[in-house]
Amino acid sequence: MESLKSISLQTGIIYGPVRSRRLGLSLGINLLPEDYKLCSFNCLYCQYGWTAQPTLDAIPALKDLPRPIEVTDALEKAFKSIVRKRLKVDAITFSGNGEPTLHPDFAEIVEATRILRDRYLPQVKLAILSNSSTVTRQEICVALNRLDLRIMKLDAGSEEIIHQLNGPTPPFYLKDIITGLRGLKDVILQSLFVQGRITNADPDSVALWIESVREIHPMLVQLYTLDRVPADRRIWKVNLPTLEWIASQVRWRAGVKSEVY
Ligand code: SF4
Repeated sequence: MESLKSISLQTGIIYGPVRSRRLGLSLGINLLPEDYKLCSFNCLYCQYGWTAQPTLDAIPALKDLPRPIEVTDALEKAFKSIVRKRLKVDAITFSGNGEPTLHPDFAEIVEATRILRDRYLPQVKLAILSNSSTVTRQEICVALNRLDLRIMKLDAGSEEIIHQLNGPTPPFYLKDIITGLRGLKDVILQSLFVQGRITNADPDSVALWIESVREIHPMLVQLYTLDRVPADRRIWKVNLPTLEWIASQVRWRAGVKSEVY
């Protein structure tokens, strides 16, 4: 565990730019509370520790969430500063302390962010890191499709493994998530592999997951393993040859491009 880094919750609405393994220099947008994680999942590997109350309903937490006007004010200030200082930024990314699409005004905030991005930083891509739990909601899919990069989580091809590894809030039906992901434009799948108390990297689990990948047919699959200290210390990294083997399976058996991070 010595090689894994710790990370604290993000403070404020805007953070970074941070160097991201997948996005380059990324300016983060946190639509979630500053002092706790709000998420529909409770992943064993979460870098922010355990989710106190996994939920798909953010309304009870509304007082802890930034209002759209606060988000746009913070964004405009950050964008102006980036332009003034001529900083290099590769992406503006919805991520932060949990699942960004849970914010009740997510769609409105995406539209406002697009307008500001077009005005100040038109060359920078708008991205999201999402756990995919809300792709069953039509209005969320419409908003996701307004972004440039949709990087959506799918760690396994069986509900049993997803329940063990990601602890999703019910109702969670894999077939509905797959249908939602299939409906997104140019979707990128992100999949994290671990071993230990629970694994999704054994050949049987990988075969099931590849079936789901084949159904979704994303434009790219991003494969990675633990980089930060996980909530559950009884899981650990898979090695690079295993990730590369899984990546080759994605290419050969699903016909989909894959990258290891
Ligand atoms: S989806 Fe992301 S934020 Fe939510 S518990 Fe999993 S790793 Fe943590």
